[in-house]
Parts: sequence; structure tokens; C-alpha cells
Amino acid sequence: RKNRKRGRMGKEGEVNLKSIFLPFLSTSHIIPLVDMARLFAMHGIDVTIITTPQNATVFQKSVDLDSSRGRSIRTHLVNFPAAQVGLLPGIEAFNVDTPPEMAPRIYMGLAILQPCFEQLFHDLRPDFIVTDMFHPWTVEAAAKLRIPRIMFHGASYLARSAAHAVEQYAPHLAAKSDNDRFVLPGLPERLEMTRLQLPDWLRSPNQYTELMKTIKESEKKSYGSLFNSFYDLESAYYEHYKDVMGTKSWGIGPVSLWANQDDSDKAARGYAKEEDEEEEGWHKWLNTKAKSSVLYVSFGSMNKFPYSQLVEIAHALEDSGKDFIWVVRKNDGDGEGEKFLEGFEKKVKESKKGYLIWGWAPQLLILENPAIGGLVTHCGWNTVVESVNAGLPMVTWPLFAEHFFNEKLVVDVLKIGVSVGAKEWRNWNQFGSEVVKREDIENAIGVMMSEESEELRRRAKTLSDAAKRAIQNGGSSHNNMKELIRELNQIKLSKAQQTTPTP
Ligand code: UDP
Repeated sequence: RKNRKRGRMGKEGEVNLKSIFLPFLSTSHIIPLVDMARLFAMHGIDVTIITTPQNATVFQKSVDLDSSRGRSIRTHLVNFPAAQVGLLPGIEAFNVDTPPEMAPRIYMGLAILQPCFEQLFHDLRPDFIVTDMFHPWTVEAAAKLRIPRIMFHGASYLARSAAHAVEQYAPHLAAKSDNDRFVLPGLPERLEMTRLQLPDWLRSPNQYTELMKTIKESEKKSYGSLFNSFYDLESAYYEHYKDVMGTKSWGIGPVSLWANQDDSDKAARGYAKEEDEEEEGWHKWLNTKAKSSVLYVSFGSMNKFPYSQLVEIAHALEDSGKDFIWVVRKNDGDGEGEKFLEGFEKKVKESKKGYLIWGWAPQLLILENPAIGGLVTHCGWNTVVESVNAGLPMVTWPLFAEHFFNEKLVVDVLKIGVSVGAKEWRNWNQFGSEVVKREDIENAIGVMMSEESEELRRRAKTLSDAAKRAIQNGGSSHNNMKELIRELNQIKLSKAQQTTPTP
């Protein structure tokens, strides 16, 4: 009987786990989930990532690299039904260039694809699936197949805990005004914010509030959830979150560090350009600069600013006297803004004070360059984890999603950031009404880069060391990964034992 079991499952106790990963259709959800998929492949698990052709362009190079290293990983493409939902071919993601009015159609396309994804789960016979939070239906699909569904959360433990506190206790309703500070109740530390800094769906119920409820229910029914975080980064919130949710959860970050160990990995990430002049350009420019002297200014993959805000940033950077790399995007049809930015680029090129990268920057490569001394960031969770990993302090400028919660972690809990004092949450695809003034930006940069902020930099460096330990043998993320794989193996093994006929 024992031999028969061996024949079915390879070596005793060792089963070849097969998995499916289903990312959401937006760049900053795809990037960390694909890094996670690649980590599972690195640990000997067979991985199929299901997505649409346009979304695959964000990561296919990385998958090809892993595959050439002998890892069992591939992409399975499913065509997006653009014509059926009245979209032009190629518009199949929520990203910076997606016109707001197209968003509902992309959701419709995704709904049309659902049976197709479900059929693939059935046909490819995975032992477990890992799916983005925005695919809550996959928990039922997994249940039908009697396999675990693990949910990927794009956010931090603190952000999820804070959102939960607002949902449960509605502290904002007692605030006297939109700018009155209130405490987020029940959290491990005293964290304060204002009504205007809350995401709209938490401020007052809308369609998205319903979606988030469905997501939470699906999380509770899932086998557990995966976070791009690590224990020492937000241990109190990790414990708190597991307590309030009553679910299993594993922090396996920083996934960018763990999955992208070679320069080729770092360069291939996202909308990487072919080796070209521009890439060479930033590198050459940065290498002429003194250690820790340059600011990296970027607002993630989804943001655009109006002309009025771009002008304030440009002046703040110039007035700060610091050298900088600014990742910047033009707005379609904004001739005035375009002319201003081109003039600014010419000026800072001549003075050698700044370098503008248009569109997409190889962020991991830039952050690890010794010349970088700090970031100006929108507090997107992936960027926060990446800058912690690089040991860099941050000027925090939250904009949308859960950025204002992440700012609390960076500034109030970890004390590795200086706030520009942004007051108002807005949607990712809107400009909002707030324009942060140049003086406020310049002041925050000055504080972060000053000699008095030595402590800030020391704490950032300590966390960077902790990040590196987390993914090494015996580190928290490494242990979590091993434990999760052990459990998944166990589940497969007991299922196989149940179905093995007795002689
Ligand atoms: N990113 C990049 N180059 C860019 C912009 C973004 O490599 O020019 C990567 C960045 O390293 C991170 C992700 O895209 O992994 C952005 O995610 P984040 O959560 O920081 O922000 P979001 O894009 O969701 O606003």
C-alpha cells in the first residue's frame, strides 16, 4: 500500500503541488502578486499565472527569466472581451491612462471572463489557487473544487486594520468637521486622522463599500491571506489583524527583494524598456552624485497631477537645492503643462541638478543606488516596502487608495518619514481639489535630508536590515512561506489518502 502511495505522489511525503495565480487587472496589484507566484515557483511549486495579453506585458519578461532558470512557471493568456463591452482592443486594465468612463466596462469584461477563469481552474487541476482580493467569487470556485483559495491583499496590515476600525466603530461620524482629528479606535497605537483623509467608501457608503464587504466575507471564507509585508515591519498590526479577522495570514515580504535578486530581474520588472539610452542616462547621471545626496520623486503607477501641482513640485525641488530624479507623466491635451515641464527638464539638465524620467522608471534599480538619499512618495504600499528594503527615509504625500493609512505607519509608527501635510483623499483617476504648496514640499524635503534627521535614517537602515533577515533561512517571511507550503502539501496528501483505494 505504501508503495502505491509513493507511485502516485513521488517520494514519500513529497507531493508536486500545482497552483494557479490570478492577478487583478492593474499594474500595482499584478507586480507583487506575480512576485509571489515566482516565489512559489522558486520553492518548487508548479505555477500558472492566468491573465489577459495586455496585462501580461507587465511581467512576462520576469516569467521568461524564471522559466529559463528551470522553474516550473508559465502564463496562460485569456483574451479580454473588449469588443463585447465596447472597448478598443488593448484597453483591459485599470491604469494611469485608462479614461475614468471606461472603468465600468473593464469590470463588465472581467465579469464576462469569470466562467472562463472558472473553467480553467477546473481543467488545469490545481491543488490551490492564489487570487487577488478583487476576485472574491474565486472562494466559491475553489470550494467547488475542494481546494484552498488564498487571497492576496495589496495593502499593509496597518491599513487593513485601520479600515476595519472605521467600518466597525465609525469614529469619523463623531468628528466636528471634515478637518477635525479623531482617533482610530481599538488599534495597538494611538493613530489620528481626519474625515477628509479617509477613502470615500469609508466616509459614507457607496458601491465600493459593498464590494469591500464582499471582499471581506470572501477573505473570511478563504484558507488565508498573503501580504507583501514582514513581521518586524508591522508586527503589532499583523497580530491585531489576525485577531480581529480570525483568519490565517502570512506576510512573505519584501517580495520585490526575494523574487528579484539579480539585476536582470530588477530591470525586467513592469513596463521595462529595452536597454536604451534613457536607462543608461539616469544611471550615468546618478553615478556622478555623492552618496545619499539624491531624492527619488515618484507617485507610483496610477497617478497624474494637474499642471498647477506639477508647477509646485518643480519649484519645491529647485528651491530645496537637492539633486533629484523625478518620475513624471504628461497629461494629454495639456499643452501649457507640457511646455512647462519641457522647459524645466532643459533647465535642470543644464544645471545637472535633476533628471526627469518620463513614464516608467526602473524603481528597484534606482532605489538601491548608493546616491539615493530618500524618496518623495505617495505611500503606495509596494513603494513603502521597497524603500524600507532600500533603507531610505521618505517624504510622505498620500493621495488615494489606502495611502493615508500607510502614511501613519511610516511617519507615526516607524518614524522614518516626514509628512508634506496632505489633507484630502481623492480617487486615483481624479485630480481632487487640493494643491500641496511648494513651501510645504520643500520644508518636508529639507527636514528629511537634514543632518538633524540622522535618527530617521538610522531607523530606516535598521528596518532595511530586518527586511533582509526576514527572507533568509530562519527569517519570518521565509518561515511563513515554508509553513504555508507544508500545510498545502498536507492538504493534498490527506486528500490523496482519502481517495486512495484500499487493496
Ligand atoms: N513602479 C516602477 N516604476 C514606476 C512606477 C512604479 O517600478 O515608474 C513599481 C514600483 O516599484 C511598485 C509599483 O510599481 O512596485 C507601484 O506600486 P505602489 O503600491 O507603490 O503604487 P501604485 O502604483 O499602486 O500607486
